[in-house]
Amino acid sequence: MTTTETDCLFCKISAGQIPAQITYRDDQVLAFKDVGPKAPLHELVIPLRHIATLADTTAEDAALLGRLMVVAAERARESGQASGGFRVVMNAGADAGQSVHHIHLHLLGGRALAWPPG
Ligand code: 5GP
Ligand code: ZN
Repeated sequence: MTTTETDCLFCKISAGQIPAQITYRDDQVLAFKDVGPKAPLHELVIPLRHIATLADTTAEDAALLGRLMVVAAERARESGQASGGFRVVMNAGADAGQSVHHIHLHLLGGRALAWPPG
């Protein structure tokens, strides 16, 4: 079942209330281009179900979290921009810089990525 939060930006994107360049959608997962790309390939992969932060997840969310990773890998392959490698990262909480409180994987690629990220 899909739950949405009225004031959540990414729930609005998944509901089609705010436009986005959508690259993938299934019954549980959505991927779209980040509006402020930090690399030639920068997409966000989100669950349709609203979960505010990774810190809120439990063992019951394991399959859904796995699907996010599988979709990120599929998008990396299909983008044609990640043959040299790519990174997936999820910011959780204030110290990590999470600014949208609906969990999302960043898929980054298309250039060499520094490590550690900062
Ligand atoms: P966070 O900082 O929470 O890890 O990542 C949030 C990401 O959402 C940022 O990379 C930011 O550029 C992206 N973002 C914020 N608002 C929008 C929007 O309205 N549309 C899209 N496509 N991306 C957004
Ligand atoms: Zn949401």
